[in-house]
Formats: sequence, structure tokens, C-alpha cells
Amino acid sequence: MEAFEYTALPARVVFGVGTLPRVADKMNAMGCKRALVLSDPHHASVGATRLMQALGEKAVHLSADAVMHTPADVTERVMKKLVACNADCLVSLGGGSTIGLGKALALRTDLPQIVLPTTYAGSEATPILGETDGGRKSTIRSMKVLPEVIVYDVELTYGLPQSLSLVSGINAIAHGVEALYAREANPVISNLAEQGIAARSDARCPGLFRTLPIAMPDPTPCSEPGPADRASALSGCRFITSYATFLAGPLVFRTRRTHTVILPHAAAYNASAAPAALDRVARALGASKAAGALFDLAATNGAPTSLRQIGMSESDLDKAADAALQSAYWNPRPIELDPIRALLEEAFHGRRPS
Ligand code: NAD
Repeated sequence: MEAFEYTALPARVVFGVGTLPRVADKMNAMGCKRALVLSDPHHASVGATRLMQALGEKAVHLSADAVMHTPADVTERVMKKLVACNADCLVSLGGGSTIGLGKALALRTDLPQIVLPTTYAGSEATPILGETDGGRKSTIRSMKVLPEVIVYDVELTYGLPQSLSLVSGINAIAHGVEALYAREANPVISNLAEQGIAARSDARCPGLFRTLPIAMPDPTPCSEPGPADRASALSGCRFITSYATFLAGPLVFRTRRTHTVILPHAAAYNASAAPAALDRVARALGASKAAGALFDLAATNGAPTSLRQIGMSESDLDKAADAALQSAYWNPRPIELDPIRALLEEAFHGRRPS
């Protein structure tokens, strides 16, 4: 028998195709009448406009100001709009950047949030907010930032460009891998994480198939909920930051593409320290070894596999290794300079982990 501790996070999840108009009902259920709708410049003319129409008078303002990494000055600017329009709730439609902006406003106001994710980043289901101020990133963990309602409308992911779809999908898988070997791992989350990773091999309906075309049997849009969204929901809900995120963090290029490159090497690094977790990853991917399978998934689909490819220079490797050692994140295998430097070397050249 395995003893464990598990804390469930509260959230109402609506999942389906064409669910966007249900935001109005959810606002009613929360007793909210005036929504500040948040989005980014891309979605301002696409989903956010549809959302504004669906909400009618319930939408008092649209702010399409969201940008990557939640800069504090953008948040302060939107705070002024929030005060001016006297909103009583936040409705965020977009990827992790838009959801981050909503969380930053919720942290400052404690207003309830309804979020409609358009990528597989998973931020919608975490009580974590990453903000930047003057180029410095800080991470805050607070229940104030956890969205109350998540509305997954699979239609919102149909416009994702292939390349973004791919790295965002691998990012969702990374959350599952990290959850499996996290210090706080428990059977409830491990089952969800394995299921989330395995969702890519569901037989007919796209989900991660659309995201990761490696196994796409039928490219036509599917009317059923995509497993990629499930993967995001399942894995993201316990986004337990561990090694891949930790190592990618100090690498200057803190992007989805960094995670895509580092994940297979992080899996190889941790294989001896967390064999059971990595076996589950391999099983979910239908392979014998997790690290190689994760690398192949990226390589076969044209995602970046080397740090060089994403713009890092070889002279930065020592600095990145030093920074990794300074990180406070827990990792199944101790973080030591030589093996980390070796890992970075492998990742820099894009070698398949053995
Ligand atoms: P993003 O929100 O920055 O979006 C990237 C680009 O893709 C944008 O130009 C956006 O307009 C476009 N886009 C998004 N969805 C689209 C769609 N369906 N169709 C067409 N274009 C679309 O990207 P992201 O990866 O979702 O989010 C990254 C941010 O989220 C980072 O700041 C990261 O730190 C944060 N994040 C936070 C957490 C957390 O738990 N706090 C978890 C994961 C990511």
C-alpha cells in the first residue's frame, strides 16, 4: 500500500465543442453582471469578439493587452481599465499569456475568473502566476489566482498554427511527465498524468493527433473533445514544476520551445532516480524508454530538438549550468554541475538521449 497526501483544487470545468456562449450562464451562477474580457491582439478580432457578442451587456470592456510573461506594467495599465469599467469578474480568452494577465488582476482584486484556454499550456488549472518586472521573473502561488471556472471550447484550438500546436502539446505532455516524478506525486495525479500523456494515442479523434501529427489518422476537424484539451486539463491541474521547467527557466530562452528540447534530456537525467515514473511515461507513449520516445515525438514532427536550433549559443552553456545549480526547485536526481553540463551539451547538439 502506498501512503499519500492529495489536495484537490476547486474548479468548475465545462468541456465541449461550441461551449463559448455558456460563459453567460456561468456568470449568472456566480452572481456576476459586469465582465472585463481579456485577450491578446490576435484573439481580439477572433474569439474575443464572438465572446463579447455572446455576453452582450454583460461584457463591459474588452482589453486585448495580454503579452508573454505577464509584465507588471501591462497589468497596471489594465488595472486602470478594470477600475474604470467597474467590472465584477474577469473573463480571459487566450493562451497562457492572457490567462496570466487575468490571474495578475485577480491577485490584486480577488475578482472571480472564468477562463477559455486556446492553447495546451495548462495555466488555467493552477494557482500559480509568473510575473515579470524590469526583466526579472517571479512566481507566486496563491489560491486568489486560481480561476473559478474553466470553459474548454475545443473550437478555439482549431486556429492554432501547426508549429505552436506542436510545442504547446509537448508542453502539456511535459506537465504530465513532471507530475509523475514530482516530490508530491500521488496515485490520483499519477493516473491522470499518465492518461493525459497517453491521450495522444487515442484512436480516432484528433486531440493531440491534431497537435502532434505523428499519428494523425484523419486530418479533418473532429467534433468530439480533443484529448489534447483533456491532457491540458488533466496534467495542467497539477502542474508540479520540476526539472524540465526548472532547467529551462535559467536558460534565458524561457519558451515552450525550450521545454520541448529539454524534456527528453530531463527524462534521461532522471531515469535512474525515478524509474517507475519514467516507465509510466514510456508506457503512455507506447515505447520502451521514455527519453527516446519523447525525443522522437519532437523530431518526427519537426519540433525543435536542439538548443542551437532555438538560438542558444554554445558559450552560454556554462552560464546555464551554473544557473541550473542555483535553482531552488526539487528534482528526483540531485542537480550536479558535471552531469548537468553534459546534459546541456547533449541538448545543445540535439543528440537523442540514450
Ligand atoms: P501565449 O498565450 O503566449 O500565445 C502565443 C501566441 O499564440 C500568441 O500570439 C497568441 O495570440 C497565439 N495563439 C494562442 N492561441 C491561439 C489559437 N487557438 N489560434 C491561433 N493563435 C493562438 O502562449 P501559451 O504557451 O499558451 O502561454 C505562455 C505563457 O503562459 C507564458 O508566459 C508561460 O509562463 C505561461 N504559463 C503559465 C503557467 C502557470 O501555471 N502559471 C503554465 C503554463 C504556461
